Amino acid sequence: MPENLSEFIRELSEIYDPDSNDNYISLYLYKKTDRKFINRRIRTCRSILKGDLLKNFNDTIEDIEVTLKKNISDNVAIFASHKHNFLRYLPMSVQIKNLLIVDSSPYIRPLARIQDEWESFTLLLVSSNYAKIFSVSMGKVNDTKKLSADIMNKHKKGGCSQARFNRLRKGAINAFLSEVAEALQDRVDDRIIIAGPGTPKIHFIDMLPKETKDKIIDIVDISIDDEKKLLKESVHLISEREQRESHKAVQHLKEEILKDGLAVYGPKETLNAVKNGQVELLLIEKDYKFHGWICENCQVVGEGTKKLCPYCGKKTSEVDVLEEILEFAERTDAEIEFTDDEEIADLGHVGAILRFK
Ligand SMILES: [Zn+2]
Repeated sequence: MPENLSEFIRELSEIYDPDSNDNYISLYLYKKTDRKFINRRIRTCRSILKGDLLKNFNDTIEDIEVTLKKNISDNVAIFASHKHNFLRYLPMSVQIKNLLIVDSSPYIRPLARIQDEWESFTLLLVSSNYAKIFSVSMGKVNDTKKLSADIMNKHKKGGCSQARFNRLRKGAINAFLSEVAEALQDRVDDRIIIAGPGTPKIHFIDMLPKETKDKIIDIVDISIDDEKKLLKESVHLISEREQRESHKAVQHLKEEILKDGLAVYGPKETLNAVKNGQVELLLIEKDYKFHGWICENCQVVGEGTKKLCPYCGKKTSEVDVLEEILEFAERTDAEIEFTDDEEIADLGHVGAILRFK
């Protein structure tokens, strides 16, 4: 299963049923043992779907049940379509809202929001003879690497002169820190927090190449034994940073709109821009939904209701326009910020900073 949430979302965003048939099930399940929610949604969907769609629904649910019986995390998101021989799942370490959605493509909005709110990062705890590297995603540590070195004590014993002893000790510390620097550079995260007691961490940062240095978002002064406290603080730091970033993004959007610069707002303009690959940063109001339709054949989306596509005449599928904008944005590698800033509501619940106009 996927290691990287953004790659996973990107993969899902590319998938749809070309005939606009509601053949994909997206299931977000907070406690897979709690059957009440899923049973109720299955009954509801069965009472509405007919013919081939009902058959595919039942077959897909069977595939999903097989996956749920596997030894996977209690919280999970599953995306599947039996007809398209497709099933992907992702264990979740954060609390998610139960959802079962039948649509012509996987429903990625909750995942995209988790990715925005729980940015993954690398945390390094370092002293002159000990280091631990944590990879944190969705607020949980999913990998650690420990390094340590036998470094002589500050005060010399026996033989050599104090000056020679100091030189040897310094050399040993440097060798250890370069080893840590190498291990840190093996990590792919774009955000790094460096923590540890006193000056070794500062000395360590000086040793890093510029491109790794640029990824450091915070430096925390903390004792090497305070691992638990550090992890908690780091997750908090990251979430505060995310809130600041989404506020900044809204302000940036407003400035660009005022000077008629590189920005669009409202569902229609934003949709056009995102389909043209113009969007650098997409801003979406957290819980807002826009009723609309999609023709998966033409990849055309509109507001309101339309049973048949005005371009090709094929059947359309009902959608949330913001979800469709989000899927296009993911396909074109745009950055995505969810916000509950009131100002985004006034601007039509969605907007974007553009790469070009
Ligand atoms: Zn069409």
